[in-house]
Amino acid sequence: MSDVALPPRTTDEPLETYLANSADRRMESYKALLRIPSISTLPEHSADCRAAAEWIAADLVASGVEHVEVSETGGHPVVYGDWLRAGPAAPTAIVYGHYDVQPVDPLDLWDSPPFEPAVRDGRILARGAADDKGQVHMHLRAVQALLATRGSLPINLRFVFEGEEESTSLHLAEWLIANRGRLGGDVAVISDSGFFDGNVPAITVGLRGIMYAQIDVVGSPVDLHSGSYGGAVPNPANALARIVADLVGPDGVIAIPGFYDDVRPLTDRDRAAYAALPFDEDAWAAGVGVRGLAGEIGYTTLERKSGRPTLDVNGMWSGFTGEGSKTIIPAHAHAKVSCRLVPDQDPDRILDLFREHVLRIATPGLGVEVVYLGGGRPTLTSIDHPATSAAARALEATFGQPPVYVREGGSIPVAASFTSILGLPVVLLGFTPPDENAHAPNEWMDLANHETGIRTIARYWDELAEIGREGLAG
Ligand SMILES: [Zn+2]
Repeated sequence: MSDVALPPRTTDEPLETYLANSADRRMESYKALLRIPSISTLPEHSADCRAAAEWIAADLVASGVEHVEVSETGGHPVVYGDWLRAGPAAPTAIVYGHYDVQPVDPLDLWDSPPFEPAVRDGRILARGAADDKGQVHMHLRAVQALLATRGSLPINLRFVFEGEEESTSLHLAEWLIANRGRLGGDVAVISDSGFFDGNVPAITVGLRGIMYAQIDVVGSPVDLHSGSYGGAVPNPANALARIVADLVGPDGVIAIPGFYDDVRPLTDRDRAAYAALPFDEDAWAAGVGVRGLAGEIGYTTLERKSGRPTLDVNGMWSGFTGEGSKTIIPAHAHAKVSCRLVPDQDPDRILDLFREHVLRIATPGLGVEVVYLGGGRPTLTSIDHPATSAAARALEATFGQPPVYVREGGSIPVAASFTSILGLPVVLLGFTPPDENAHAPNEWMDLANHETGIRTIARYWDELAEIGREGLAG
């Protein structure tokens, strides 16, 4: 890549030569994908989501991937494609990534426009550069390079690139069920995670799940004069504030009865693994830009942000929010709330407990409703699985150091779907730097990670071929 000088990282000479010769084209295709504003949650960007899907499909076709299609889901499409000519003894990996991105506001906090990729200091800055178009692009370039240099792949691959990950993968489970018949495989490889603090290569062995709901509190049909009615009628905004205040205690413990019933406690080994990770808490807090850290009493920051469940208000609105004053009792008030879940919490059960609790503590005389907006289960994969060990070898061979094993605080509902619907072990092989500003202004990707990661992916397919189907089954 012209903007970042990198020595060859592998002994695969044809691959290195190909990657060196195609560096400029590779940067251009990365930028082209990032320019498409495929924000899945905003209806006005529907056409952009489809454009991103079609862009990826065309790219797969051009590389020689077969049976490529932009497959309808009822929402934004899934891009499917496969290459299955490695033979029945070779493993089949299902590769997952997502081409949709988060909204970009607040726009004024971006150093450059989010859909005009900017390259400087070994970084590329754009919405989706890391999460997750950058990683989709790495897979596209890896399969292209292998097919171009060898005319074949060491294993069978199926690509499933989703367009609704940032909208809680609304239709993906349905799509996986409908297409189960043609999604046979031995392992699911999900590239939507990242490296550890300090950009240490990492394999994510656990992901939190999520339960997302909205609380609607309704009073009068219209806003009321606070002088004429104040003191005599319940105020939806006050009532909502009381509900929200009663969801989490001052000790960071979630106050919903039964919430922790299914939480698998962290074992001594889990806590030792957390403690062994290189992590400078003060530097991390400074990097985040907060004045102090807070969380559940009795747990470390690393445990809190990935090994324990959470409850956060994501947004609240009610009444008059313009300049100056307007003396009203708002007609209604709303909050969006998400809970990050850990094994073995179930989003449906958490929703029930959440709803019961909210209705129990609600002020009488108001309409209170809890609307479910989506959810996904948590996952945890063994670090001893042959597919995980092979990924560790591929990372060490290309990045020059063995990976650490981490749990991630985020949610990829599809990870649980691949396990429960397709019965596949899931390997979370992701390459983004830990401070990549995913979901925030100035999202960026380390171009060295992008470049080396392409080699890791190619090497991983070789490692899986060496293990073979039978070895992979254990
Ligand atoms: Zn993502």
